[in-house]
Amino acid sequence: MTSTAGRTDTAGARASNRLHSPPGTVPPARFRPRFHYELLTCGLRGHRLLGTDAAVLRSEDAGFDPAIVVRDVAEADGDGTVRWHRCLRCDSWVPLDPPDAPTQPQLPTRAEVDLPLRGRALRDRFVLRLIAIDRVIHFVGLALVAAAVFVFLADREALRTPFFAVLGTLRDTVGIGDGDDGVVGEVTRAFSASATSIVLVGVVVAAYALLEGVEAVGLWQARRWAEYLTLVATSVLLIPEVWELTGRVTVFKILALVINLAVIAYLLVAKRLFGLRGGGAAEEAARAEDQGWDALVRTAPGADGGDRRQGSRASR
Ligand SMILES: [Zn+2]
Repeated sequence: MTSTAGRTDTAGARASNRLHSPPGTVPPARFRPRFHYELLTCGLRGHRLLGTDAAVLRSEDAGFDPAIVVRDVAEADGDGTVRWHRCLRCDSWVPLDPPDAPTQPQLPTRAEVDLPLRGRALRDRFVLRLIAIDRVIHFVGLALVAAAVFVFLADREALRTPFFAVLGTLRDTVGIGDGDDGVVGEVTRAFSASATSIVLVGVVVAAYALLEGVEAVGLWQARRWAEYLTLVATSVLLIPEVWELTGRVTVFKILALVINLAVIAYLLVAKRLFGLRGGGAAEEAARAEDQGWDALVRTAPGADGGDRRQGSRASR
């Protein structure tokens, strides 16, 4: 009971404080760094400002107060104006001179503005693309292995003599390749395996590569199906991954397992797959808190949300 009330209070305080804590203004906890994805993106691409090319700060858009994103402010000495632009992504206010030769008579309408991602939507874009890059690396590695398997199958007889010649030399000189372990053992066995089993191995590896490739493309484009595909495929493939660890444990195997567990946790908890934590609808609602014109209006300094909301309701 107490904890529920506490949580509601915190959520309420956070919602009302959003206005006063744009990205980068609250110091992170000492041992927990916090990524400000808006600032990272603005650092890479620059701010997204509205009205830098407009002659006057007026809009055809009914119910839209341009002051939430751009304002002309007279200078204290009464000599000229400064135009303050609010970055549509990171909420920083940037003072610029009004344009000498404006290319637009006024501001665009809201529908004409392609709002940048911010808040949770932007974080998800970063995380999903990181996972996509991980999947691309898997795709390339597996595709190379599949190609190598088929090349090996085609040229097995030609490769047999030089392979065993080199192996014999290594064995006689540096003692490598003795015994059944490791890659040398696997390749030695592959020379005596049937063509059917080699084709089967090649097909399985190629299919795995294809799966990783499809995941990468879908995740890059932030598709919901790709999140489900990644969750199911990653979970299923945890079984052989854990089984692998019962054999020789390497840093790479542990790293791969940790990454995949983190991916599963992220998809389930943050992306709310399979209806977890309210599912897709709750995710949409959470995104709407950060993203879109309503969020910009709600967090605008000096914006009395009540009046403005009434205004926009009247105009609908
Ligand atoms: Zn910015």
